[in-house]
Amino acid sequence: MVKAACIMDWEDLCNRCGCCCYEKIELGEDVILFGEPCPHLDIDSRLCGIYPERTRINPNCIKVTEENIGRLYWLPFHCGYRRYYERKKQKKTGNGNESASENLRIL
Ligand code: SF4
Ligand code: SF4
Repeated sequence: MVKAACIMDWEDLCNRCGCCCYEKIELGEDVILFGEPCPHLDIDSRLCGIYPERTRINPNCIKVTEENIGRLYWLPFHCGYRRYYERKKQKKTGNGNESASENLRIL
């Protein structure tokens, strides 16, 4: 069966910004600073050098899924997955509340 063209692949939601691959430090309730990048992140391309095996090689690496996206509050607001989740939540509740991740600071 041919997939409808409008069905986007989950992986395509990621815009390859690499922000989630930086050390995260929480200050207060909603401010997160990015420190050192993961050693597997290519700083120039912003791509993971071990992507297919990332969770095996780096146990600290969290794979974003439809099931856990709602708990990954530290993802930046511009993250494709975060935006997808926020849109879905907004559709469901009809509520346009701002996300805590809008308070993200990148230093
Ligand atoms: S923050 Fe989101 S969009 Fe950026 S690399 Fe991570 S998962 Fe992809
Ligand atoms: S292992 Fe995980 S955290 Fe490290 S660069 Fe790859 S995707 Fe990012």
